Amino acid sequence: TDHKQSNFLRQIIENDLAQGTYASRHWGGSPGDAAHHAQGPSDPARVRLRFPPEPNGYLHVGHAKSICLNFGLARDYGGVCHLRFDDTNPEKEDQEYVASIVDSVRWLGFNWESGGTAHLYQASDYFDFMYRAAEYLVGAGHAYVDEQTPEEMRANRGDFGKPGVDSPFRTRTPAENLARFREMRDGKLADGAAVLRAKIDMASPNINMRDPAIYRIRRATHHNTGDRWCIYPMYTYAHPIEDALEQITHSICTLEFEDQRPFYDWLLERLAEGGLLSAPPPRQYEFARLNLTYVITSKRKLAQLVNEQRVSGWDDPRMPTIVGLRRRGYTAEAIQLFAERIGVTKSDSWIDYSTLEGALRDTLDATAKRAMAVLDPVKLVITNWDALHGAGTLDACSAPLNPHDPAQGRRQFQFGRELWIERTDYEETPPKGFHRLYPPQTAADGSTKPGNRVRLKYGHVVQCTGAVRDAEGRITEVHAELVPDTKSGTPGADAVKVKGVITWVGVHDAVPAEVRLYERLFNDPHPDAGGKNFLDSLNPDSLRTVQAYLEPSLASASVDDRFQFERHGYFVADRRDHHPDKPVFNRTTGLKDSWGK
Ligand code: ATP
Ligand code: MG
Ligand code: MG
Repeated sequence: TDHKQSNFLRQIIENDLAQGTYASRHWGGSPGDAAHHAQGPSDPARVRLRFPPEPNGYLHVGHAKSICLNFGLARDYGGVCHLRFDDTNPEKEDQEYVASIVDSVRWLGFNWESGGTAHLYQASDYFDFMYRAAEYLVGAGHAYVDEQTPEEMRANRGDFGKPGVDSPFRTRTPAENLARFREMRDGKLADGAAVLRAKIDMASPNINMRDPAIYRIRRATHHNTGDRWCIYPMYTYAHPIEDALEQITHSICTLEFEDQRPFYDWLLERLAEGGLLSAPPPRQYEFARLNLTYVITSKRKLAQLVNEQRVSGWDDPRMPTIVGLRRRGYTAEAIQLFAERIGVTKSDSWIDYSTLEGALRDTLDATAKRAMAVLDPVKLVITNWDALHGAGTLDACSAPLNPHDPAQGRRQFQFGRELWIERTDYEETPPKGFHRLYPPQTAADGSTKPGNRVRLKYGHVVQCTGAVRDAEGRITEVHAELVPDTKSGTPGADAVKVKGVITWVGVHDAVPAEVRLYERLFNDPHPDAGGKNFLDSLNPDSLRTVQAYLEPSLASASVDDRFQFERHGYFVADRRDHHPDKPVFNRTTGLKDSWGK
């Protein structure tokens, strides 16, 4: 790609590769254990990264940044990237999300198969190992079962500048703790009655080090392990272990996990001491998450939009989900280019939505086929057509499928007596600078001006003579006369100079279609910042559906085919609703940047 820029993560990886940091790794884990198998063939010198989504929703554009980053680094440095489901939270997770995540990562252009090994994992496959590691911590005096109430636990945690208070259960012996922990596992305690906590330091200035919970009791059916467990590891405990078992070298996460890094390191050091894992451990690095203007990327809030039917589903073309962007007409290439352009930094900032659309336009301009479409049609009647060309005759016209790439060939359509044009291309009284169709004008001083001449793109020049209105005053037909010998591409066609060129579709060969015109979903560039309710800034006009006429070349469009409708923007045949006999197109984006204006 054109914009491969260096960044702090590339420098770290290049440095590690140069120093051979991971050249002699040798990990623990016992044979027969799911965790052991996860290590795959020994692969010493390679970097290993992972993208670890929780399967509790659909992936969004923020995840796409992380996917492009992790899979992209693995690709660029000859390493591997694991797709790992961080499925330690059974109530919120579902196989539906697992399937959609797999699909989205593949669609974005990445895969996790490398050297014959499929690097697709789920954290729940390591539950046995995690449990064993927890028993080790208990036995070594590094963890204890706490039976304070959640309220007591919260109160005794302290706060910034205020040390926590030791739990009365903190002094239990390892033997007592082990017995109690096994009772937790065996379902002898009620949900929430106890947690297993790491025993670190209740006075630590880092609140995450004040004896964080590492196991909780939750009677919930897990989509992978079913009812086998009634205790589940906490994310902060599970994640470092997952990374270590998979021999991840660089564990890249977003900045909010910076304060968790000391626990990440503490845990892996303890497990290494116990011989459960051996060095070198994975290292965590943090980067700034993607914040995109006019977009929310909280899964909970996106779920709310879906559940309250403010959008049609996770793949509504207005959603910032990968399935939504795809249905809107985004290409994987555009999203990869976007990720490359925004780069990776260590400080939070906002990225303008136009950056995403700019990447899209830059990729589509070169590839998308062109077509003409009339979105707000009014009929144009060429009143001298029959006299000049004969009644019922049609005139073949053609245009390049893509002006940047003549090899793509040409498209054909026909000019005739009746054409569809945009209603806005006619003005009875033209405003200053209007160069499209208007009838003869008489000024206040009695001076006159003839009806205007415009070129119907790829066709002929016509001169406007007037319009016909119905009883309500609405224009039903615009009238014009053909100017002879002006057909595009014929000798002398340019002798008649015009300032306006308009697009059109023949009435006789137009393809009627439903076109969905999408606008931003929120009117506020920061819909959920600073305690705002994001629902307050929902744009009520984010979808407008029109009945349009399309050029005949579009009759054969298939779902997901992308086009530039000349003058209007980029459009895609809707992947859900489009059928050749009932075409439905979505506007992906306009031709020009309209954000922030
Ligand atoms: P939410 O908090 O909305 O549920 P999440 O961040 O917890 O989302 P995960 O499934 O845990 O979602 O995310 C998987 C990976 O994607 C994580 O490594 C996370 O850092 C990354 N990620 C999530 N959101 C963004 C974002 N906006 N920008 C960059 N990376 C992100
Ligand atoms: Mg998460
Ligand atoms: Mg989160």
